[in-house]
Amino acid sequence: MSNIIGPHGLRRYALPWLLLDAALPSSCFACGNRLGSTQALGACHRCWMGLDPALEVTPMLPAGVTVASAVRYTGLARRYLLRAKFSRHQELFDPMGRMLVAVFRQLPYRPDCILPVPSHPWDTCARGFTPSVEIARALSRATGIPIRPLLRRRWRPWTAFKRLDRAGRKILAARAFRLRHDLSGISVLLVDDLMTTGSTLAACSRCCAEAGASEIHGLVWARATFFNSNN
Ligand SMILES: [Zn+2]
Repeated sequence: MSNIIGPHGLRRYALPWLLLDAALPSSCFACGNRLGSTQALGACHRCWMGLDPALEVTPMLPAGVTVASAVRYTGLARRYLLRAKFSRHQELFDPMGRMLVAVFRQLPYRPDCILPVPSHPWDTCARGFTPSVEIARALSRATGIPIRPLLRRRWRPWTAFKRLDRAGRKILAARAFRLRHDLSGISVLLVDDLMTTGSTLAACSRCCAEAGASEIHGLVWARATFFNSNN
């Protein structure tokens, strides 16, 4: 049996899995093809390998902060992320986190701690987990760098956000986070599942800079290709 699923080769050989597959055949959520009995995490090997790698280090605001990413936010990556976040398949975050480990090992910096970017409190309550924390676990496990969930997202209703124009949204996004800890002399790595415009990471970076962080970098699983460093 040589079927392998996931970028790092998860395998399942046990008889119960074979029997379960015979009784309840499953299909890849991304392409719909029948999954083999030894494949896990809901997607076939081909679809896992179809994720578009994007080891990029992107300069963005504020000055000196860079962001690296593991994959491009293509339609396939979007399906993976939506499945993990909204279908409550938290097990998908582990291979995503291990992709970040591979990227991290190619980067030139070694931060003192990992700061996951917090979700909106409403989302955390509804899901019961924070995607960035789930992704950061594998990174922390592999590198020994501790996760410090020090960033907080302010409670603000999305209805108010929707009424604002683009400039207003930008200002609100910049004030969406707070950090009440002293980070003097500490280098931090901000981790998130997705970067679209970059405004969230920029706002978090400013919080860290105001708290005295000596060095700030970002690492995200997926990066949207329409990223604009001015946003
Ligand atoms: Zn597939």
